[in-house]
Amino acid sequence: MKSLPADRKKRERPFSILALLLALQVLFAYAISKFGIPENIFSQLMYLPIITAGYLFDYRIGILSGVIAELLIEVFATESLALFQPQRLYAASFRVFFFMSCGYITGKIKQKMDEMKIPANHPKIHPFTQLPYWGSITEEMNSLLNNHKILHFRFFLIEISNQNVLFATYGLDYIDKVNQIIIAKLKSHYKGCKLFLVRLNTFAMILPEVRQDVEELVRLFEQPILVNGIPIYCEVTIGEASYPEGGQTADAIQKNGFVALNEAQLHQKPYQQYQPKLHNPEISVLLGQFQNAIQNQEIEFHYQPIVDTNGKVHSLEALVRWNHPVKGMIPPDQFIPDLEFTRITNILTYYSLEYNLNNMARLYQEGFNLDISINISITNLYQPDFASRVIAILAKHNFPSHHLELEITERGFLADNPECRSNLDDLVNAGIKLSIDDFGVGFTSISNFRNEMIYSIKIDKSFVEEIHANPANQAILEGIIAIAKASNVAVIAEGIEKQSEKEKLVELGVDYLQGYLISKPRSYTSIRSWLIDSSLRAGKLPSEEIPEK
Ligand code: C2E
Ligand code: CA
Ligand code: CA
Repeated sequence: MKSLPADRKKRERPFSILALLLALQVLFAYAISKFGIPENIFSQLMYLPIITAGYLFDYRIGILSGVIAELLIEVFATESLALFQPQRLYAASFRVFFFMSCGYITGKIKQKMDEMKIPANHPKIHPFTQLPYWGSITEEMNSLLNNHKILHFRFFLIEISNQNVLFATYGLDYIDKVNQIIIAKLKSHYKGCKLFLVRLNTFAMILPEVRQDVEELVRLFEQPILVNGIPIYCEVTIGEASYPEGGQTADAIQKNGFVALNEAQLHQKPYQQYQPKLHNPEISVLLGQFQNAIQNQEIEFHYQPIVDTNGKVHSLEALVRWNHPVKGMIPPDQFIPDLEFTRITNILTYYSLEYNLNNMARLYQEGFNLDISINISITNLYQPDFASRVIAILAKHNFPSHHLELEITERGFLADNPECRSNLDDLVNAGIKLSIDDFGVGFTSISNFRNEMIYSIKIDKSFVEEIHANPANQAILEGIIAIAKASNVAVIAEGIEKQSEKEKLVELGVDYLQGYLISKPRSYTSIRSWLIDSSLRAGKLPSEEIPEK
């Protein structure tokens, strides 16, 4: 077990020392009573043990020592039963009040001195924010965990996500002021909270009061803060892991706080509470192995067909799979969301293009003349040379650009960034088709996009799932399809599992269909057989189809 913090150790001096101190006070009173000094001097001398008790222990022991001092005066310095004389009783009450106040004040002054005494260059205190560093979080948590009276406490990580922007706009000096305002806000709003500095843009807060409202914590930062009269907006992201649900040890609670904070960042949410299902502590290890995995050919792609309303295969969507030597087949949901915001996503996308264009070339040779849909992420679009590299890979494989569809989520199209815009323009100018993936979940209208750029939209499977249950979804779909048709944009519905869903979607005017009903994603060998079978069903041999190029 870790040792307790110094100030806590002091407060928890053993009972034996306390008893010794009070015994010394009795001895002291007895000794001075032997000198026959007058009662008023005796009383003054009694302040010495009271101040000592308040200073060495705390204000409560100071008060106790004050009461004992008065009793000692009654025993050693006053004739017996004098206390019962009304005048003496009055004087004694006054004195005990002063004694107790003295003990209280000494204890409190010492407490303040202890707080202030920690020098600004103390290795555990950050000089500008005056907050303890993260090392003290463990000490504080351990002291709470060792306290049997504490059944719950909350642990928050509060990150100022736009601090780099603030640095860039206002400079480093400003950040101290911003941090100080934030610290003051938190301290005044959450009485009894303990704050720590994790890094310059991240605070940790331990809150023993469980009932305090977390909504308020989010709202606290919605209003701009005034620094030197300038309103500044701090974008704050909060992760919470609380004892006991969020972990049983200081180490687990802290790590889970970061799991929650990462999740909030990933989904751009202001707040996320830790839940065990978020837990993927191995993700950084997995991401560390990813580049080797590509070299070891553990990364492969499965193909899911996209068909037109007559069942003719229009394209294949390549979906990544990680054939891990120890963990077996890892689906993309378990690593793509974390990988997507790292630079490894570029390695994946270029690899995906090479791998899948190679397989498509093999299918072309057999007479299958299909599009290939490749998922890319927004991070790719921020690479200034992205479009030129994609075009170079197409040229290398001698692959017709109009057979390549790139699927990007709505955010990729909405990013107001010159690199993204220029990449999208260059891709379209090269004849590559762009498709908006998961359309509908972001609640953006197709009219927000430059339609001439977009070849198709893929209606998210959540809409398809609820098509019968939720009439509002149907109305939204009708609207989306009408705008898409007017803009010459193809509509693909994904996640179709039931015949009834397919029929409804065809009735609504969807152009292409994708889902388990048609086929699950399949390995290259399996999709090749599936394509041959479906061509045979259509009464045609694949070689009878003439490739466009
Ligand atoms: P997505 O692009 O929306 O891909 C469709 C997902 O829905 C696939 O999951 C597919 O297997 C699944 N799906 C298809 N039909 C049905 C159906 O009828 N019912 C249900 N319940 N699911 C269906 P998968 O393969 O697990 O991929 C998940 C996500 O991972 C993809 O969603 C995509 O966002 C991402 N992803 C996959 N491969 C890549 C890749 O190579 N690069 C990038 N950047 N992301 C990828
Ligand atoms: Ca997709
Ligand atoms: Ca999708």
